[in-house]
Amino acid sequence: MTVRVLLLGGTAEARRLASLLATDQDLDIVSSLAGRVRAPTLPVGEVRIGGFGGPAGLADWLAAERIDAVIDATHPFAATITANANEATGRLGVPFVVLRRPGWQQGPADDWHWVDTVADAATRLPALGRRVFLATGRGDLAAFADRDDLWFLLRAVDPPPPPLPANRVIVRGRGPFDVPGELALLRHHRVDVVVARDSGGDHVAAKLTAANTLGLPVLVARRPPLPDVPVVTTERAAADWLAGVRHQPS
Ligand code: NAP
Repeated sequence: MTVRVLLLGGTAEARRLASLLATDQDLDIVSSLAGRVRAPTLPVGEVRIGGFGGPAGLADWLAAERIDAVIDATHPFAATITANANEATGRLGVPFVVLRRPGWQQGPADDWHWVDTVADAATRLPALGRRVFLATGRGDLAAFADRDDLWFLLRAVDPPPPPLPANRVIVRGRGPFDVPGELALLRHHRVDVVVARDSGGDHVAAKLTAANTLGLPVLVARRPPLPDVPVVTTERAAADWLAGVRHQPS
């Protein structure tokens, strides 16, 4: 019997998981993207794009599409869709798992300063620096919009929407990023502090290595908490979880 799976994506691991699961003829995978990026990198297989309309809209969609299991492989800071998926699957009794890449590990030579949210990082400036590489999500930029006392380097796939800080340079870029490139970027713009989120993932870690090499402080925002759900950290473990769901008596 074919098992129909919703794979909430928008991340590299979601695309890798879609490729891994595509080899199984008994699985019917629908990947879902929010539609934030104008020209997204698409996973293999069926893709739908756009919000569902909150937990109720998602529950309706899952029922209408006869989805048997949901895998949330969204970004660690995409907390709303994870909460919505938890609520919708709980309502319908559909098995649900979260695939989350591990967070970053601070090394002894890293000058990291942990904060609960990116907005909290704004309160730690300018004590730690005035030329800021704001390496966060577009939704986090507003907290810095009125900081005319600071200068910002922003990097985004598409131009970020306002409100934005006045003293800024925006560079366009999509990971993966490498250490030589990040070193050159930080040096060229004379950055003296980095603001980052504990996203984890090798493709965006180079900025932390570069900051360490240059002896720069990094303000690191902690991840939002996960709901009380099963969590796996690798694509293989997510595939194994799905195999377990398929072999459960219905
Ligand atoms: P969010 O705050 O958790 O979600 C906001 C709303 O966007 C959700 O309520 C939902 O709308 C819609 N949505 C989010 N992810 C969706 C998905 N995969 N499929 C369909 N609808 C989705 O999410 P976000 O932080 O804006 O991130 C949006 C997407 O970008 C996520 O899929 C995430 O994996 C990806 N992404 C985010 C970041 C980041 O920095 N946050 C970085 C890289 C990639 P409805 O309520 O209408 O269903």
